[in-house]
Amino acid sequence: MTTSTASAAPREALSHEAKRMRDEYHSADVVIVGAGIFGCAMAYALGNQGRSVILLEKSMKQPDRIVGELLQPGGVEALEKLGMRDCLEEIDAIKVFGYDVIYYGEEVKISYPQVAGDSSIREKAKGIEKGRPEGRSFHHGRFIQRLRQKVLSNPNVSVVEATATDLVRCEWTDQILGVEAIRQGEPDAYFGGLTIIADGYNSKFRKAFRTDAPISKSKFWALELIDADLPMPNHGHVLLSDSAPILLYQIGTHETRALIDIPENLPSASLAAGGVKNHLTNVVVPKLPARVRPAFTAAIARDRLRSMPNSFLPATTNKTPGLILLGDALNMRHPLTGGGMTVAFNDAVLLSELFDPAVIPALDDHAAVLSAMRTFHWRRKNLTAVINILAQALYALFAAEDAQLRALQQGCFEYFKLGGNCIDGPVGLLGGIIRQPFVLFYHFFAVALLSIWLYIVRGKTVLLPVRALGSVGVFFKACQVLFPYIFAELRS
Ligand SMILES: Cc1cc2nc3c(=O)[nH]c(=O)nc-3n(C[C@H](O)[C@H](O)[C@H](O)COP(=O)(O)OP(=O)(O)OC[C@H]3O[C@@H](n4cnc5c(N)ncnc54)[C@H](O)[C@@H]3O)c2cc1C
Repeated sequence: MTTSTASAAPREALSHEAKRMRDEYHSADVVIVGAGIFGCAMAYALGNQGRSVILLEKSMKQPDRIVGELLQPGGVEALEKLGMRDCLEEIDAIKVFGYDVIYYGEEVKISYPQVAGDSSIREKAKGIEKGRPEGRSFHHGRFIQRLRQKVLSNPNVSVVEATATDLVRCEWTDQILGVEAIRQGEPDAYFGGLTIIADGYNSKFRKAFRTDAPISKSKFWALELIDADLPMPNHGHVLLSDSAPILLYQIGTHETRALIDIPENLPSASLAAGGVKNHLTNVVVPKLPARVRPAFTAAIARDRLRSMPNSFLPATTNKTPGLILLGDALNMRHPLTGGGMTVAFNDAVLLSELFDPAVIPALDDHAAVLSAMRTFHWRRKNLTAVINILAQALYALFAAEDAQLRALQQGCFEYFKLGGNCIDGPVGLLGGIIRQPFVLFYHFFAVALLSIWLYIVRGKTVLLPVRALGSVGVFFKACQVLFPYIFAELRS
């Protein structure tokens, strides 16, 4: 008892002094820009390790966005590791057990696999039968506010409503010392041994450190359906057809999100054809299950149409002393598979392990931090490479633009119909439960081979030799889909 009180007292004093430094001198161990998904998770994790943290956010109002609404089981597990799982409570979140993939009206139920994740295996080994992993879907803004409340409860973190405008650099060493900001209309500055930028997809700061920009070939347009009658409640719905994919998932007791992928320059969504409303009414509605159409049509009439670019940005190693870019500022993939938050929370878990104060006592030790960042870049790949490659490759198949991609799309659906490991593997990867890139390659090429086989055998017998020749093109297309994303993951 005496010991713990004695050891608690100096820590409290330290924490008090650190708070004074943050409040009066705007100085901390770490300055984080952006209290979104990644920034909140990282601030909380570092605060829990006894680091003094300043978290800057340009608006503490509840965000009203169409992103980050379905958290995969691998993200839920990471939230638990961060001690933030309770942020999923009291937001009317919906349990997600897997997906309902609908291909030209035909359905396949794809449940998250029972025993595939590390923790499930561990639990089994201990003799505890764990249920199937679960994801959660919710209103993004409500979840963000819960994350922010959680961070605000951490005594080692000061959350400041301010917009970061520029970096503060040391004139002699060029290392980053913090950020300039505008707070309540006045210029201000915040200093940290380490500055973490997590300002999201449209990062203001990324451009100074990378010459490449995110690539975006389509947008997700969003509607909020009220009391939609979904074919498979508690599942994400993926609708596949001859146009780009459509997603439907419940985000509250009464609300369902519809995300409609619209590729750039799509004729049916052009202004001349009547714009996106025309596309939704004349192209999308007929492809929906009949039971969903009334809620969808009502939403077209009622909602303000909103969109977000679907971006791809491979990660690079952070090499600037004193600065790290993370979250969407560092790495993005197509949101089709709902992987962004799972990546962000797992990155926060991994980085807080690498930054453990027992390993790196002071975060202004730039050599130690940069070395940890090199480790981070490669170690995160087991999960993030899988999620990134899968998202991009599945999007190419699901938005099939030519005959070969359509053959692969059909092969993919037929593969799911085989059930068992043909479902458990892909959805385990997508859910952040299976973290082994070779499992992705195995399933991808199994899909390619099945697609080739179906391409050859389906159709008139007389055309068999022609189709056998054409199947080479299908295989080539599969490689063309996958390899650029593998190479993107191999860059340092
Ligand atoms: C259409 C769409 C749908 C998606 N759906 C899903 C999904 O279902 N599941 C999933 O896991 N992922 C999804 N994602 C991806 C997910 O939203 C992101 O990966 C995730 O939000 C990234 O978190 P972040 O912290 O990097 O950025 P954000 O969550 O965007 O947070 C950035 C924060 O920085 C603040 N900020 C910005 N500039 C400044 C500044 N200068 N000063 C101070 N603060 C600043 C912003 O206000 C914001 O709070 C989707 C993405 C898109 C485009």
